[in-house]
Formats: sequence, C-alpha cells, structure tokens
Amino acid sequence: MGFLLTLRRRGISDRAVLRAMDEVPRAQFVEADFTDSAYADHALPIACGQTISQPYVVAYMTEQLALRPHHRVLEIGTGSGYQAAVLSRLAREVVSIERYRTLADAAAKRLSALGYANVEVVAGDGLEGLPARAPFDRIIVTAAAPSVPEVLVAQLGEGGIMLLPVGPQDGTQHIIKLTKSQTGLKRDELIAVRFVPLLPGQAREL
Ligand code: SAH
Repeated sequence: MGFLLTLRRRGISDRAVLRAMDEVPRAQFVEADFTDSAYADHALPIACGQTISQPYVVAYMTEQLALRPHHRVLEIGTGSGYQAAVLSRLAREVVSIERYRTLADAAAKRLSALGYANVEVVAGDGLEGLPARAPFDRIIVTAAAPSVPEVLVAQLGEGGIMLLPVGPQDGTQHIIKLTKSQTGLKRDELIAVRFVPLLPGQAREL
C-alpha cells in the first residue's frame, strides 16, 4: 500500500501534515541496508542502537502539535533527523537536541544536504532543554520518559503544546499531550506507543 494511503487509513487527515510526510524522503534518513523498507510503516534501526520512528507515529505526533508557520519548535531526540525534517516543513524554526554526537553530526549534515535550512541540531542533554532559547511554541520529545520532565514543561510558552511518550522502558508507553494556558496545564493521554528510552546526560560513547 502507498505511504500516504497507509497514513490516511490510520487516521491522519491534516493535509499540511500529509504534504510534509510526502515531501520528506525517508529513504535518505535510514541506513543503506534498509532503503527498500524506508516507506513501510515501521520503525527501523539507526546508528548507536537507536531507531527512526514509525512513519505513522511521526505523522500522528506532528498532527497533534497543530503547528503554525510562525512556530519555534524544540525537539528532544534528533536520531536520524527525520521527525525534525517533517516539523521543519510546518514551522518557522526547529531546534533538535541529540545526546549522541555521532547521530547529531550525521543528522545535521543530512538535513543541510537536503536543504532543511531551518533546522538546527545541538549535541547535548535534551533533559536540560535549551533555557537560553525558551520559551518554545511547541516541544516534542521522541524518546520515552518514566514521567514528564518538568524542566521541559517550564520551557514551553503560554498557549504551547508539548508531546512526549511517557511510560516504563519495557512496558506500554502513551503519548501525553500537555497544553499550557493562563489557567494551567491540561494533560491528555493519547495513543499507546513504543519508543527507546530518554536517558540522562550527553552520551559518553560516540
Ligand atoms: N526523532 C528521531 C527518533 C529518535 S529515537 C527520528 O526521527 O529519527 C530517540 C533519540 O533520542 C535517540 O537518538 C536517542 O539517542 C535520543 N535521546 C535519548 N535521550 C536523550 C536526551 N536526554 N537528550 C537528547 N537526546 C536523547
């Protein structure tokens, strides 16, 4: 089945999101051995024991972020840079933090070669966020935490939306959607997912 048709069948309906998914060449973000399955709807291994997320989950989280063209977005967990590329089609600026320098460097190179000029990759600990550049209109975390990191919530602007997988490493995680308003924080539990863990600190191994 076609890539976009699969996403539509699973319920992705936002046309701008579908267009972004259509535009970003996932084959350029997977390892050479997996080029043949680049457009199948599942996660694939990348370097450093990490994964590039399943297209449906990328599209779903992107849709839930309700991005506007003026938004500044913070992503935690650059990995291959695929999710960041999709976000970059719908927002003004994307800053993405990755704890493995190898992945951060490869993603930065790939994104710039493909012309995604409004994405910046930072090697560092995403659990600290980027306080100097806060507040962000949107925050997306693409690795699973046992609970919501309050440091990141503090870097979300008013009217902002933050999405992150929360749950145990080896159990069911759910995408949690936090919406910040004048009156507080609204929390919604969305779909069940499976992500690699959000780990503290910059990786010491490359
Ligand atoms: N968004 C990615 C998927 C990445 S998988 C893509 O589209 O390909 C999750 C990534 O989060 C991994 O690369 C992992 O190294 C990274 N990660 C885990 N904990 C982190 C942290 N504290 N700070 C930054 N990155 C982290």
